[in-house]
Amino acid sequence: MMQLSPLVSIVIPAYNEAASLRQTISEVAQLLLPHCRLEILLVDDGSTDSTTLVAHQLIQEFDCLIYIRLSRNFGKEAALTAGLHRAKGDAVIMLDADGQHPPEVLLTFIRLWREGYETVYGVQEQRDETGIVKIAKKIYYGLMLRFASINIPANAGDFRLLDRKAVDSLNLITENNRYMKGLYAWVGYRSMAVPFTARKRHSGHSRFSFLKLFKLGLSGLTGFSVIPLKLVSITGLLVSIFAFCLGIEILIEHFVSQKPVPGWPTLAVGMMFFAGIELLALGIIGEYVGNIFEEVKRRPLYLIAEEISQN
Ligand code: UDP
Ligand code: MG
Repeated sequence: MMQLSPLVSIVIPAYNEAASLRQTISEVAQLLLPHCRLEILLVDDGSTDSTTLVAHQLIQEFDCLIYIRLSRNFGKEAALTAGLHRAKGDAVIMLDADGQHPPEVLLTFIRLWREGYETVYGVQEQRDETGIVKIAKKIYYGLMLRFASINIPANAGDFRLLDRKAVDSLNLITENNRYMKGLYAWVGYRSMAVPFTARKRHSGHSRFSFLKLFKLGLSGLTGFSVIPLKLVSITGLLVSIFAFCLGIEILIEHFVSQKPVPGWPTLAVGMMFFAGIELLALGIIGEYVGNIFEEVKRRPLYLIAEEISQN
């Protein structure tokens, strides 16, 4: 019996990338079609440029292309999830639409997958980041490892190949907080890193500002660990012990040393200190309450407005 070559799905999330799509998709198709059966899922994350128009043209040219348009901009993580739900491949590869992920690396991904690795991820080399960002990332990944027991490899992102087993496992996860890097690590499986150097964007600029990255990081930490809540309780306990000792000291000064204790500075400092701690504690609890609120609503992660392909 002749064995069919494996089906590989490529998931490409795109938000206003009309200028890059043609190049990205034709590069991938040219490179991979001789090696495997191919399915390219272009997930349009509510673009407002001419992405739809370009996609409709590309559909006529590539019979392996499937175009999925989300009803609005749901964010990259939701777009990837939509692609993972739809992909039928024995392996699924996620690739940015802007051309930053070099397609040649895909051949290495597929080779390692055929050797038995269930996850093959790209590790970006030579990132032009400032020292502060590097240190912040180190601390963050250290915290994730310590607090959440999730080992997220540094400089690895969504550029990766997942075996069908890993995709099915990810698809079992229904939570709304989709910190993908954490989820990849959480599902586990045998994995292998492949270094790559990111290319320049074909056009446009990155959509991930520092604020967006900070929010993503926070959702990762609170989505995978309740340690920040425990730290709040511990801080509360330590502060109470401190306040108790201070009270004893004041009593001793008053009754034993008979020294007059100045009232208002002690009060002012104490009040400010406690107010600060209380607000911090409330903020951290608020993060979790917010997460619970998002989860209990059970809203769908994305909505599909249109799905087209040649057949
Ligand atoms: N993207 C998306 N939805 C968004 C933001 C980005 O689908 O809300 C896509 C974007 O089109 C690109 C990929 O995610 O294909 C990576 O985005 P970007 O290049 O802005 O991020 P960076 O390269 O800085 O990580
Ligand atoms: Mg990019």
